[in-house]
Amino acid sequence: MDGQYEPVESPDETTVFPYHDLTPPTPADVEAAGEVVSEYLPTTPLVRSEPLSAALEADVYLKREDTLPTGAFKVRGGVNLVATLPEEFRDRGLVAASSGNHGQSVAWAGREFDVPVTIGVPEAANDDKVREMRRLGAEVIRHGDDYDDAREYIEELAVERQARYVHSGNEPKLLAGVGTAGLEILDELGEIDYLFSPIGGGSSAAGYCLTVGAETDAKIIGAQSEAAPAMYRAWQEDTLAAHERMETMAEGVATRVPFALTMEVLREDLADFRLVSEDAIRDGVARVFCEDRIVLEGACATAVAAAFQMREELAGQTVVIPVSGRNIEQSKLERILAESDYPG
Ligand SMILES: *Cc1c(COP(=O)(O)O)cnc(C)c1O
Repeated sequence: MDGQYEPVESPDETTVFPYHDLTPPTPADVEAAGEVVSEYLPTTPLVRSEPLSAALEADVYLKREDTLPTGAFKVRGGVNLVATLPEEFRDRGLVAASSGNHGQSVAWAGREFDVPVTIGVPEAANDDKVREMRRLGAEVIRHGDDYDDAREYIEELAVERQARYVHSGNEPKLLAGVGTAGLEILDELGEIDYLFSPIGGGSSAAGYCLTVGAETDAKIIGAQSEAAPAMYRAWQEDTLAAHERMETMAEGVATRVPFALTMEVLREDLADFRLVSEDAIRDGVARVFCEDRIVLEGACATAVAAAFQMREELAGQTVVIPVSGRNIEQSKLERILAESDYPG
């Protein structure tokens, strides 16, 4: 297959290859992913949070994606992509860049389907996430100051090794897989007014737009740290240019370069996009730990923070917040709790 492993012209500042189809998944694609994902992963609970419902005077449900293997929603996408991977890509293996959870997702699916996996992470990556990737059998390479540095390194490695690059956003199979969380919510909840999703690369929010957003009147609201607003700027200003500011402590949403495929879906279907402060993210982590005893990583708490930012609109409404991931470093969690004002 000549040329298969040479980059082609990219609509954004990331590298894409001929196998990267940039067509958004259809509802039928998400349905098909549901068949695949439910074979390998448990349905995650949707649980009403009494403390959050009281604080927001709303019916607040948490979608417990933290209960998946790997502790984050991304494994849904990894499973769908690797389960349906064309045979020609299996032997050479998969390469991906990640701040951690995408890497764990691809590593988990690689182990399940017996495909070798190499993950590039930034030098200062979350050690717990790196350990888990290695435990799942992946080769982990630390490179660069942040996710986008590691991404550029891995994109070159994909050419060198002639290996299939699993992009973090420009992958319809990944988006369809991630979207299965939305299908599960639709099975349980007839009426939803608001769903808050963190946005890093945009796969999570795009998945909810294609399901909950398409099937109900729910407003899908995106949330990102104001210290790393690349996707927010892309959504607001109709650009796919890189953003220079990337200083968030929440590595799951620490991106500088917007992705074309997810942005196409978000421009169409996202009702609103909120930037939240780093303090509000820390407050979300502390609040949900102290009051619900659920561990959120910072990326996930952006959605909680966005809900509190919009609290006046939420009174009396049905609100869903996904617990997108729980893989926060223990030392970071302890620091946040020590500095918080919640009792306990
Ligand atoms: C990746 C990630 C996000 C952001 O999701 P995207 O699909 O990249 O926008 C949010 N929370 C957690 C825990 C993540 O791992």
